[in-house]
Amino acid sequence: MKLFEYQAKDLFAEYGIAVPRGKIIENPSEAGKAVEELGGKCVLKSQVLTGGRGKAGLIQFADSIEQAQAKAKQLFQSGRNVKKILAEEFLEIDKELYLSITIEPVEAKIMIMASSQGGVDIEDLAVSSPEKIVKEKIEGSEIFPFQVRNILFKLGVKDGCFKQCFKIINRLFEVSVKRDVELAEINPLVITKNGAVVAADGKIILDDSASFRQKNFTLTREHFDSDIEFEATQKGFPYIQFDGAIGLMCAGAGLTNTVYDLINYYNGTVANYLEFGGPNYKRGVEAMELTLRNKPKVILIVTFGTIARADVMAESIAEAKEKLKPNIPIITAIRGTGEEKAQEILRSIGLEPLLDTEEAVKRAVELTGRGVK
Ligand code: GDP
Ligand code: MN
Repeated sequence: MKLFEYQAKDLFAEYGIAVPRGKIIENPSEAGKAVEELGGKCVLKSQVLTGGRGKAGLIQFADSIEQAQAKAKQLFQSGRNVKKILAEEFLEIDKELYLSITIEPVEAKIMIMASSQGGVDIEDLAVSSPEKIVKEKIEGSEIFPFQVRNILFKLGVKDGCFKQCFKIINRLFEVSVKRDVELAEINPLVITKNGAVVAADGKIILDDSASFRQKNFTLTREHFDSDIEFEATQKGFPYIQFDGAIGLMCAGAGLTNTVYDLINYYNGTVANYLEFGGPNYKRGVEAMELTLRNKPKVILIVTFGTIARADVMAESIAEAKEKLKPNIPIITAIRGTGEEKAQEILRSIGLEPLLDTEEAVKRAVELTGRGVK
């Protein structure tokens, strides 16, 4: 789960990482008061979960009440699903550093990455001058002072900033470990003209597998692009919204990726992906109901069940078809344990049980009227 910047900064503050003064506003009129409270000048930061807000114009600066209100209005009306703006004191920036803590997937170690050249172009820097990004891998879940010093020496951080950065790295490490964080990123970590080190941005991704012991944050509608996506997640269906024509009910990430690629390969488009496997294989009615809400031109169901039995899935699809009476075609390739029985069930409700995934994908694409390439 991704946290919004303001939530990440609340966590930072809780762990003693310096963040700018700021407040959340939810309509343009509040921006006027905010800019006054923040010393007559402020940064207006759209709270959306996509990165690159600076480049996308979603970070704005204002130095009067009128300007703050006008710019806040623009941001709320940007069409980018901005529901909240974080208004913050304007920082006089001397330097922008980059700092992140994540899990290095090959060795499965906590990895700290840092650079003295942070800011909005960090991705370019990673490509053009990867040597300017310092990496330090940590054994286990304990960090030693020499490791932090190593990073800071390599960055060339000196004097008063050294102490502050030293503390920030340690605290960010503590947040990462204690809160089951997959990615904690501060970009930019700002050194102000007064020599203060402040987390000007904050990005945190929590490990969903640990959500049972980290109940501090709940998913809200704001985390999602659509009502359906939100509802699906609340109901326990992994679900991704697209804007194409095939409503995809699939089981398992690997199979889904393959099917998704095949759909693209054969010139089709995907309306949504809904995870019908795992604990959801008996929930055909809810799954199909959510899929139909997207108004796809065809439903494509591809599964390969072992413990989640194919015949049980087929039964649940039969139930859904009976209840929801979708007036669009349904294409199925339901394989795995009990597939002979699954085929019988599917035939009995007027569906043709296909066995070949590629064949099923081609049929579905044809039914959307796009023509198989
Ligand atoms: P992102 O583009 O989504 O990563 O949003 P950031 O919060 O990182 O802001 C983008 C850029 O805006 C930063 O790299 C800074 O250069 C600039 N910025 C953000 N806050 C301030 C501020 O208080 N003062 C100044 N001068 N620049 C800021
Ligand atoms: Mn940033």
